[in-house]
Amino acid sequence: MAKLSRELSSKGIDIINLSLGEPDFVTPEHIRTAAKKAIDDGYTFYPPIAGFAELRQAISEKFKRENYLDFAPNQIIVSTGAKQSIANVVLSMINPGDEVIIPLPYWVSYIEIVKLAEGKSVPVKAGLENNFKITAEQLEKAITPKTKMFLFSSPCNPTGSVYTKTELFEIAKVLEKHKDIYILSDEIYEHINFMGSHESIAQFDFIRDRVIIVNGVSKAFAMTGWRIGYIGAPKEIADACEKMQGQFTSGASSIAQKATEAALRSNIAPTLEMCDAFLRRRNLVLEKMKEIPNWKTNQPEGAFYVFPEVSYYFGKKFDGQTIKNSSDLCMYLLHHAHVSLVTGEAFGDDNCVRFSYATADEKLVEAIKRIKTALLNLQ
Ligand code: PMP
Repeated sequence: MAKLSRELSSKGIDIINLSLGEPDFVTPEHIRTAAKKAIDDGYTFYPPIAGFAELRQAISEKFKRENYLDFAPNQIIVSTGAKQSIANVVLSMINPGDEVIIPLPYWVSYIEIVKLAEGKSVPVKAGLENNFKITAEQLEKAITPKTKMFLFSSPCNPTGSVYTKTELFEIAKVLEKHKDIYILSDEIYEHINFMGSHESIAQFDFIRDRVIIVNGVSKAFAMTGWRIGYIGAPKEIADACEKMQGQFTSGASSIAQKATEAALRSNIAPTLEMCDAFLRRRNLVLEKMKEIPNWKTNQPEGAFYVFPEVSYYFGKKFDGQTIKNSSDLCMYLLHHAHVSLVTGEAFGDDNCVRFSYATADEKLVEAIKRIKTALLNLQ
C-alpha cells in the first residue's frame, strides 16, 4: 500500500498515507550530531559483529535502569533493526516442524520469518471484544509437545494493545509449567505506551532465563532509517545470534551504533514528547472515528495504530463492483478517498484495517472525513 500510494502521489494525487509503521518525527538533534561526530572520529571500519562494547554496555544499563533487568553485555547482540534481531533468534532456534505460538492479529514478519526457518506458526486469535489480547487459557490450549517458542509484541502492531502486568503474569504462569518453551518478547514499542509504565514479561523470575527481549531505537527515538535493533538473551542464544549475523551482515552500521549509544545515554525527554503527541492523536482519532458509521474500534493503549473492525462494509457495492474483504476496502479507500491504510488480512484478521496515526493532526482529521464520505457512498 505504501508503494502504491507513493506512485499515486507522484502522479500529483493528494494521497494521505496512513499505511506506514514509523514515527513522522525527525531523529532528535543530539543523536544526529553524535552520528556526524562518529564519522569525523573515524568510526568507518567494520564494527565487532555483536556491536561495539560501549554500546552493549549502554544497552545493559538501559535494561537495568528502565526494566530492572540484568543482561550482561555479552548477553546483548546489536543488529540491523529489531526485524533482524527477530530473524536471528528464530533462525537460530527454530528447527523444521517446531511450533511457534503467535497471537493473532500479528506483525506480518513473524509469520514469514518462522516460515523461513521451516517452523510452523500457530496463530491464536484475539478479537476486538477482548481488546485483541489472548488469554492464558487460550495459550495453554495451543501448546503441544512441539511448541518451541511463544512470540508476541506488547504494545502490539497492528492493534496498539498492551498487556497489563496481571495478564502477563497469567501468561507467564502457563509458561512456567512448560520448561522447553522460550519466550520472544518484542518490546520495540516500549516507549509509546499510554498506560503509565512498560511491563515486560521478563520481570517474572520463574521464566526469566527463557525470555529473549527484542528492542531497538526505530520507534522510541524516531530512528527507523538508522536500522539498529538489539536483543537481551540467555548467553547461548546471544552467541548463536552473533554467529548468524557474522555470516549475514557482519554487524550493524558503525555510525548508527554510535548514534544509538548517544540516544540511550541521553535524556529521553524527546521520546516522552513524541509519546505525548501520539496520545493526543490517538484521542483525536478515536473521537473523530465515532462519526464513521459501523466502524468499530477499541481503545489502543500503545504504539500508533488503530485496528478498526470494518466487516459491515463487506458486500457493499460501488460502480457495480462488490467489496468482498479488507483488501477490496483498502483499495476502494485508496482510489476514492485517497487515503492509504493496510488490509487486516496482512495481520491475519481480514475483518479489520490498520490505520496509523503517526502523522499530523490536520491530515488525520481530513483522512477520517474522506473515509466517512467514501463509505457513505457505498451502496
Ligand atoms: N516489531 C514490530 C512489532 C514492528 O512493528 C517493527 C517495525 N514495523 C519491528 C519489530 C521492526 O523494527 P526495526 O525497524 O527496528 O527493524
